[in-house]
Amino acid sequence: MIILDGKKVSLKILEEVKEKVAQIDRKPHLAVILVGNNPASKIYVNNKKKAAEAVGIKTTIIEFEEKISELELINKIEELNVDNNITGILVQLPLPQHINSKNIAAHINPKKDVDGFSPENVGRLAIGLEPYFYPATPQGVLMLLDEYGIELESANAVVIGRSNIVGKPMTQMLLKRNATVTSCHSFTKNLDRIIKTADVVISAVGKKIVRCKMGNKNSVIVDVGIYKDSNGQLTGDVDFDYVSDSVGFISPVPGGVGPMTIASLMYNASKIYC
Ligand code: NAP
Repeated sequence: MIILDGKKVSLKILEEVKEKVAQIDRKPHLAVILVGNNPASKIYVNNKKKAAEAVGIKTTIIEFEEKISELELINKIEELNVDNNITGILVQLPLPQHINSKNIAAHINPKKDVDGFSPENVGRLAIGLEPYFYPATPQGVLMLLDEYGIELESANAVVIGRSNIVGKPMTQMLLKRNATVTSCHSFTKNLDRIIKTADVVISAVGKKIVRCKMGNKNSVIVDVGIYKDSNGQLTGDVDFDYVSDSVGFISPVPGGVGPMTIASLMYNASKIYC
């Protein structure tokens, strides 16, 4: 069994991004919008800023109070959309309840939408046009699988979870690679039976959902889930100890998809379209 070492692969990608940024005259400049005082969001935003600056991407964090209106936030985004100094815009989620995050995503210039959540980028992926940006987490998963030479064409891939930020784009991106994809969610029956048929399982749920031995010894499991267990330890969707002896490749939590997401986001933030 081989560990899909996201920490190691992410460092390699970050190094490549750093080299690319060093070679271009116009430096990327990422605007990160943070609304409210969610402590986890503050940590994520600061981590993104640190990672960006380590590869030469300038970052400006724009903070708003929790009570900002949706219109005020949209006005700020419209301003950033036409600001020639800004090459990428990221709105940290979750937003307060009174703001519709889908509406916000719809106002981000698709050519600056480094998260890939704007309707144009989502639609481009869905209809087989190249999006300007792919969502960071599924793109990071593919970067990890590619690094280990895992063949996706004709593979039976099972994606567990269908969120707009992970599961759905993951499914689309695997289809684009010509995998045969099964999309599972909370209404899926006989999940274990489906998992056992897979060559590649990608789980993005947020609870311990993959607990069965695999049917194929060469199969691959990527654990996107990350949350704290009852002892406060970071854990993922996969029962690693039970499952790992039945697979060919498996990603750990932490040290798997988490660092790949950051590297993938930096890869996006280094692209300049306007
Ligand atoms: P989400 O929006 O809560 O979506 C969870 C998905 O899991 C939903 O589609 C839900 O189905 C499905 N689900 C729930 N219970 C299920 C069950 N019993 N069987 C099958 N499917 C089930 O979560 P998310 O934002 O996609 O994130 C998922 C996990 O990935 C979380 O732990 C999150 O922290 C982690 N994550 C990690 C990274 C990273 O960089 N490592 C990035 C993003 C997210 P329904 O659609 O039917 O409700």
